[in-house]
Amino acid sequence: MATDVKPNSALVLHSGGQDSTTCLAWALDKYDDVKVVSFDYGQRHKIEIESAKKIADHLNLEHKVIEIDLFKELTNNALVNHSAEVAEGADGELPTTFVDGRNIVFLTTAAIYAKQMGIPNIVTGVCQTDYSGYPDCRDEFIKSLNETLKLGMEFPFEIHTPLMFLTKAETVKLIDELGKLDLMKYTHTCYEGKSPACGKCPACKLRLKGFEEAGTQDPIDYE
Ligand SMILES: [Zn+2]
Repeated sequence: MATDVKPNSALVLHSGGQDSTTCLAWALDKYDDVKVVSFDYGQRHKIEIESAKKIADHLNLEHKVIEIDLFKELTNNALVNHSAEVAEGADGELPTTFVDGRNIVFLTTAAIYAKQMGIPNIVTGVCQTDYSGYPDCRDEFIKSLNETLKLGMEFPFEIHTPLMFLTKAETVKLIDELGKLDLMKYTHTCYEGKSPACGKCPACKLRLKGFEEAGTQDPIDYE
């Protein structure tokens, strides 16, 4: 059965963090019809999904939360195993928060949902600049999956990655230029799940460095 394609519509993958929020601002600037999807995959902190909900509500956007249980079953790492310690990877090693195949599952799931609504544009905040070693965040992977999704579902998907080659500071500047910097106050980044944020975990440090380099004040509170 053919699905009507709505070229001016987009589905944004939203984690509640600053990168996906910037992607949402980018999509709102570019498309008339924007919908949001988040994944509840057993991540350490529900506060991330709460942030995503708050932002979608604030913008009056339709927001779908899809539960994905398989990572809890299949992997043992700091993001979904809540007793494991969060640590930065040593040289050349992946950080303990790496979940194999996460973006393959997220993007494929998002595509299935998007196609039902006739949405060809899928927007994700993956980035290979602050590259933590995640192979499914690379441009090469995204292009490859894009082809696979088109073939596998016979639908003209286009995966957009507006942050792929930006630094964290450039990401802050982008959302500022799009006039949506105020959304940053609803975002959650801290791996420790703290609000006010801890300011010390790898995620907080990267966020703070980005704002500092952009010369902009981070609107969230820190301990
Ligand atoms: Zn933190």
